[in-house]
Amino acid sequence: MTNFPHIFEPLDLGFTTLKNRIIMGSMHTGLEEEKNGFERIANYYAERAKGGVGLIVSGGIAPNVQGWTGPFAARMSTKKHVKHHKIITDAVHKEGGKICMQILHAGRYGYHPFAVAPSAIKSPISPFKPFRLKPSGIKRTIRDFVNSAKLSKLAGYDGVEIMGSEGYLINQFIVERTNKRKDTYGGSYENRMRLPIELVKQTREAVGKEFIIIYRLSMLDLVEKGSSWEEVVALGKEIEIAGATIINTGIGWHEARIPTIATSVPRAAFTWVTKKMKEELSIPLVTSNRINMPETAEKILAEGHADLISMARPFLADSEWVNKAAENKSDEINTCIACNQACLDHVFERKVASCLVNPRACHETELNYLPTEKKKNIAVVGAGPAGLAAATIAAQRGHHVTLFDADKEIGGQFNMAKQIPGKEEFYETIRYFKKQLILQEVTVKLNKMVDAQDLKMGNFDEVIVATGIKPRTPKIEGMDHPMVLSYIDVLKHKKPVGKRVAVIGAGGIGFDVSEYLAHEGESPSLHIDAWLKEWGIDKTMKARSGIEGITAEIDPSPREIFMFKRSKGKFGANLGKTTGWIHRSTLKKKKVQFINNVQYTKIDDDGLHYVQNGSQNVLSVDNVIICAGQLPHAALVAPLEEIGLKVHVVEGADVAVELDAKRAIDQASRLAATI
Ligand code: FAD
Ligand code: NAP
Ligand code: SF4
Repeated sequence: MTNFPHIFEPLDLGFTTLKNRIIMGSMHTGLEEEKNGFERIANYYAERAKGGVGLIVSGGIAPNVQGWTGPFAARMSTKKHVKHHKIITDAVHKEGGKICMQILHAGRYGYHPFAVAPSAIKSPISPFKPFRLKPSGIKRTIRDFVNSAKLSKLAGYDGVEIMGSEGYLINQFIVERTNKRKDTYGGSYENRMRLPIELVKQTREAVGKEFIIIYRLSMLDLVEKGSSWEEVVALGKEIEIAGATIINTGIGWHEARIPTIATSVPRAAFTWVTKKMKEELSIPLVTSNRINMPETAEKILAEGHADLISMARPFLADSEWVNKAAENKSDEINTCIACNQACLDHVFERKVASCLVNPRACHETELNYLPTEKKKNIAVVGAGPAGLAAATIAAQRGHHVTLFDADKEIGGQFNMAKQIPGKEEFYETIRYFKKQLILQEVTVKLNKMVDAQDLKMGNFDEVIVATGIKPRTPKIEGMDHPMVLSYIDVLKHKKPVGKRVAVIGAGGIGFDVSEYLAHEGESPSLHIDAWLKEWGIDKTMKARSGIEGITAEIDPSPREIFMFKRSKGKFGANLGKTTGWIHRSTLKKKKVQFINNVQYTKIDDDGLHYVQNGSQNVLSVDNVIICAGQLPHAALVAPLEEIGLKVHVVEGADVAVELDAKRAIDQASRLAATI
């Protein structure tokens, strides 16, 4: 008996049936453009199909060169392309899955000199000014979309998704913000929505009745001069008439300054938009954004917010998500924590996507956890993310593993991270590993600070040292003053913090500690309405684009916070590409003051003394909190080597500079795969 009856109710589309209500949403992985990329991507999708996904939507494929997202991006415009895509569709069908190809024309988001758009207006997120499409260019673009759809059918796809949201070309035609044309594709709304309607109509005519057409409709643009709700509804109705099988929900343009998928966005924060659209349309609707666990998906379906759920990143984190849900094993799901660190950030850096909690994602052909031929007795010291990954993977492969930690609980620094408002999802990674330790029968010894002698007595064949880091203590006069606290004092030991605070260091932890100190009460990331208020989103949909004329209301910080760094330059420049701006924006709204280019001179009863631009200053504060980076913590290694034990060192314990959980888990997993 399933706990999730709505998820597992098949959906009959008339000519084909989806076996459940879960769609793997479109996600560019960068594999499309890699050597042997199609074989690799076929393996990646096939694992997800085997994992039970009802329908997969491929990453965006351009219909022509002008539509590229970046130079040489994947395209479907000739028979040569069909051959490559056949590798994907065959692999997915072999596993009993279905797959649609997303046709994406980037328009002015194209990061290349051939970009085109309804009007020659540069986007704030690409350095390339697009060319204005001539009327003949529009006709050619429609032909290319239709050609792409026909070729995708030839390649064995079960359908296409026409990407009409997130601010790409079609969206650019729809709204006045980007469409200043005076011809039949500009001016009135009727004209501006002409392109998507023609696209869907002509595609349907070309592919016949028995082919899925999903249209991704931008239901909430979240940018000035976007669509009004009435316009979105009008377009939705026309798209339905034009022949779409399913309408998917698009939330927010890429250039919107409102987060839509980051970890601080509450789960299911935008399904109310799809629910509102359900009152207007009769074809199945898909909802998306920050849905990562079966309980959330089931509730959305049960409450009638949508007919289908689209999740993208959760399938990087766990290819078996659907099968685990089917077996009522939610607690075994490796949950996507919405950090973006290994997926979106990689794509924007032109690297192959992967996943922080699952380094196998997009590396299915080269990173595998195969049964060991020689069982060993292995000790893992440290139960942070690295030690947890090493221990569970080594045990899964058949080794006998004992995991030690000095702390009373597993999780290492993630126990601090999960307390930051907006980072509650980090708890899920600890939950996942806790369950894996049981399933893989790892012996866990907590409250145990081990030394070399303990390990010698344990008769271990090999030891993995995953003891993480120790915080850096800067050499500033007065570091022993009682007002000085470390981030560990604040987050772990819960030492009281006063009303005026200086934070030394502006890396990830400096930002997180400032966010922690700037909030009071429950995190807005756990309350959709509170969060929407903080970001100025109008749930009544009376405001154009969901935001026009709405003032964001954020609770003031209970403290005055001053963040310091020695270097010049922007605060948060080293934070994640797709999330750094969110942290900066939140702290600015909380009136945190950023002070850079300083030298610290001393800390005493008067506060923090520092030099900036040659002048001496003193800031009176109640506390100075040190977040000045981290150092390796590998004290165990030398004594272990001295007694002749075979030692492997993981990350923090190895090189602490810029160590984060992504690197820690990746390195530990790769080590455990070969040990
Ligand atoms: P740790 O997590 O430090 O774990 C080491 C463990 O070893 C500890 O549990 C310790 O008790 C144990 N140990 C040490 N010595 C011994 C011994 N002799 N015997 C027994 N046990 C021992 N990273 C990201 O990628 N993204 C983020 O958003 C992010 N946010 C963060 C927010 C905060 C507030 C903090 C503090 C860190 C954050 N990090 C983040 C960093 C991330 O948590 C670390 O990079 C990661 O935890 C490192 O993993 P690890 O297993 O190497 O070490
Ligand atoms: P970090 O990112 O290296 O930042 C350290 C900060 O301390 C810098 O701002 C640095 O700025 C300052 N600093 C360095 N040496 C100093 C010294 N001797 N005296 C005074 N200030 C000094 O390290 P972190 O913030 O400790 O984070 C640790 C790891 O966790 C990082 O890898 C980080 O990526 C990861 N993390 C990631 C996130 C995330 O959201 N992705 C969040 C938290 C942590 P100046 O040199 O300019 O003073
Ligand atoms: Fe999710 Fe982070 Fe993995 Fe991306 S890297 S899939 S956001 S857990």
